[in-house]
Amino acid sequence: MLAATTDASYDKRLLSAEECDHVAGLLALPLPPETDLIETKRSVFTFRPTEPMLSGRPEAVIRAIRILEDLPQDVVDAMAEFTSRIPQRYVGEIEEEIVRRDMSYSAPRAEKISQRWPRPAIYDEPSALPIGLIDVGVPKTISAGAAWWCREFFTLYQMLGVGRAPAFELRVLNAEPGRSILVRIIQIYCAVNHLDPDTLAAQVAHAADAGQKALKHLEGLAYQAKSTEPQTKSLDTINAEQRTVLREALKSPAGWLGLLAFMVSRSATDDELSAMLVADIATMDPRGQRWAVFAACHLATDPIGVAERLTGAEVGARSAAAEYLNKFGGKSEAVVALNRRFLDDEDLRVQLAAGYQGPADAVATVWTCWSCLHVNEIAAEECTNCARGSRPDAG
Ligand SMILES: [Zn+2]
Repeated sequence: MLAATTDASYDKRLLSAEECDHVAGLLALPLPPETDLIETKRSVFTFRPTEPMLSGRPEAVIRAIRILEDLPQDVVDAMAEFTSRIPQRYVGEIEEEIVRRDMSYSAPRAEKISQRWPRPAIYDEPSALPIGLIDVGVPKTISAGAAWWCREFFTLYQMLGVGRAPAFELRVLNAEPGRSILVRIIQIYCAVNHLDPDTLAAQVAHAADAGQKALKHLEGLAYQAKSTEPQTKSLDTINAEQRTVLREALKSPAGWLGLLAFMVSRSATDDELSAMLVADIATMDPRGQRWAVFAACHLATDPIGVAERLTGAEVGARSAAAEYLNKFGGKSEAVVALNRRFLDDEDLRVQLAAGYQGPADAVATVWTCWSCLHVNEIAAEECTNCARGSRPDAG
């Protein structure tokens, strides 16, 4: 049975009727009981995993569903159960093949599957993703293969780390300016990483034709198919239009957009944008300043100089500058001296960002609550102004 599928996939020939039956038979094999309860010692029971009984079967099943000319819905649904029992690396391949054939698990199966994963926000949060991506290009007519395979969409989603974006940040994309910032920053990602925006738009439009569920399913596949996360490339130089987009993303309250902007500009030097950001930072919410500070430093010809200017800024910018220095500053004498200033900061937030690990009250006299921005005396373990904030832990 295995030999038949292997021969056929090597020869790229169609299966004979008999081989088709074999393959269908393989797919129809019952799964072993999930676990057996066995008694190892008197009154000591243990679950014996049945994984070894499935050994070799995922590979055979992947080959089989690729070879079968017609993939019946009941076989697809059987895969829902099967993929819950096999190592993660095979699941993506099986589900890609199902999507490639324009099929999906029927609703009750899909529901069962969704309980299997730690759910990232993309599944539940209504957000402009991915529907906004249709605006990234002009959806063009694409081959059936490109619509099925969605290479551009999967690559982009993995590069962006969409699955890791917190729900409240994704919500920012639902309204302007969040949505258009998203579209324009994705256009930069497409250009830098050589992904055709029109193909990407067409892939999302194709899925959108099948409704919201199909879009969510596509997102789910992109989230799960992350075996090798592609490394995003960076701009080397920044033109005026890109500067506007990056600046807006870095100013956005959605830290995720700021992170995307930082990542895609990390190889560039642009003192003009750096200076704009330093000015912007003064007007931003302290909790949203992190990536703007990182970018302002990183884009500058003299990052340490920018970080030094921010020693006089408010707590959000100071702690972000301290963190930047700690992560990217290196070990030069100037950096060590500047780091010492951050370690001597009166606010525990800044000290911790600079790498401080001692007792909370050794130097710091206050700590800022990130929930309500109230400045608390260092002795206070809970925020005296709100019910959510508590003193950060040193070390
Ligand atoms: Zn508070």
